[in-house]
Amino acid sequence: MKTGYTGRWLYTADAAGSCVENFAMLTEDGRIVWVKPQAEAGWAEADTWVDLGDVFVTPGFIDCHVHLAGDPAKEAYESPGREAAGIVCEGAAHARQLLHAGVVACRDLGSYRGYALGIRDAVNRGFLEGPKILACGQAVCARGGHGYEISYEADGVDSMRGAVRQVIKDGADVVKLMVSGGVNSPGPEPGPCELTREEIETGIETAHAWGRKVGVHTHGNTAIRLCVEAGVDSIEHGVFMTEDIMERMAEKGTFLVPTLCAPYYAVEEGIRQEPDNPDHKKSREVLGRHRDVLKRCAEKGVRIAMGTDAGCPFNPFDKAAHEMVLMVMAGLTPKQALDAATRGGAELLELSELGSLEPGKKASFVCLKGNPLERIEAVDEIAALYLDGKEIFLG
Ligand SMILES: [Zn+2]
Repeated sequence: MKTGYTGRWLYTADAAGSCVENFAMLTEDGRIVWVKPQAEAGWAEADTWVDLGDVFVTPGFIDCHVHLAGDPAKEAYESPGREAAGIVCEGAAHARQLLHAGVVACRDLGSYRGYALGIRDAVNRGFLEGPKILACGQAVCARGGHGYEISYEADGVDSMRGAVRQVIKDGADVVKLMVSGGVNSPGPEPGPCELTREEIETGIETAHAWGRKVGVHTHGNTAIRLCVEAGVDSIEHGVFMTEDIMERMAEKGTFLVPTLCAPYYAVEEGIRQEPDNPDHKKSREVLGRHRDVLKRCAEKGVRIAMGTDAGCPFNPFDKAAHEMVLMVMAGLTPKQALDAATRGGAELLELSELGSLEPGKKASFVCLKGNPLERIEAVDEIAALYLDGKEIFLG
């Protein structure tokens, strides 16, 4: 079955960053055959043509950092009283919300008892509506360290090696290490390093030996530096990163997944709900620094992929595209933000069929009501959504 689509604008997110005005796109069985200006289209090649109207089409978004089993309404990863069935059902709803926000693929970086693995399987097998999901199951952290509620706890290199192998045995596509504390954790520096150099090296080496990429929760300078030197694939958050580390990341091709939404929602929603909580005020100070790190990383040529940290306190799934708005507020161009949310995510997650609208790729795309290259807020104004060539009914 060959279906063609026409519309006003199409951003391919290919290497050249091409934008086609008055486009025609031919697909066959959910895959793109070609994208051309309408003047050059072979109209007879499609069985049917669908006019998408006055829309701006982009590749579907990729969110490289979510917690599907998290509850944005709660403070903690572990919510006493939440039953397993409740967590899983809410997680399934979160997957659907992400999809409806234009996210066609996501990476879950830590869930209570690894429940996101089951949500991943149900969505990927077509039982539930959602984006394609990669998941780490439980993360790995130091005993009592940051995020222990959703992690295996490791002490020493043997314990770390065993924990990473256990995560992979559980079914992880990727491995997540919680390497530093939170922004407000007590220690010798902001976001203190909680694992030793040897534990970090062993964790990354073991995951790579088993063919899994590694993302690390890191805020502080020591933690980020040790992970980058040990060959980590992505630094998550990276708030207190220094210039020399950015240069090393650019050299080594290490990704930054900034998750600007995390402090943004903590500040916006947290202060509104709990005006006296000092943690939220601290997050406000961090917000400016965090944005500056992203801007300087982009200037230095660090690879950037979009991640929201949705599922953390006050951080909703249905506003995932807002991360791109925050990236532009930080100083990225709209094109850089869009590329981070499409081809950048596909490169980090090695999803070779997603991330751009080119021949051979999946017809997974978002129809926006406005042009996000002129006004980035348009990423949140979705007129229609297609996943593998099938329209998703929004509502
Ligand atoms: Zn997270």
